[in-house]
Amino acid sequence: MKAETYPFVVRPLPYEYDALLPVLDAELMTFHHDKHYKTYVDNLNAALADYPEIQKMSLTELLINIDYLPAAIQGPVRNNGGGVYNHELYFDSMRSPVGQDPAGALAEALNRDFGSYRQWKEKMKQAAVGVFGSGWAWLVSDKSGVLSIVQTPNQNVPDLKDYIPLFLVDVWEHAYYLQYQNRRADYVEGWFGLINWRKAGKRYEEGLQA
Ligand code: MN
Repeated sequence: MKAETYPFVVRPLPYEYDALLPVLDAELMTFHHDKHYKTYVDNLNAALADYPEIQKMSLTELLINIDYLPAAIQGPVRNNGGGVYNHELYFDSMRSPVGQDPAGALAEALNRDFGSYRQWKEKMKQAAVGVFGSGWAWLVSDKSGVLSIVQTPNQNVPDLKDYIPLFLVDVWEHAYYLQYQNRRADYVEGWFGLINWRKAGKRYEEGLQA
């Protein structure tokens, strides 16, 4: 499948707006997807509008090569390209909270690298709750399959040359404030029940084969 290039389009949610109830309600998901995420897509396209050569690059290529882009668009690509990448993975990493556990190679790696699912969850929660200001907490794999938890500020991404993102949690206030106000920890606790472990496991196994 050919990677998407300019003009980037708003991807629909892979589920209904109310599919993540009771953790995330339809009003919150509508604002988050239709307003916040869409704004990043629009602003990324605007930033690239005058650069025909750069319009041939995929989103991942843009983010990996940010230091080689014209100086005028490095900041806009970091903020808006990152905003597009992060939100697309975030939305695609969730599912209805109907109970699904880590399985297969990813479940084994969680146990190997963190001791147990419970210990991983505790560290992941600390990372998400502990992001200062706006940002993200991620579960990533390196090319040899070793897992780690990383935090990024703003709309920054981890080093996509070396790491395969498996999923991430948005801890910008816009991701939870409508329902949780200042209670970020409650939102993060609910988010654990939304993780689409089947898709995460697939990303993990594909990353090992790449
Ligand atoms: Mn967001």
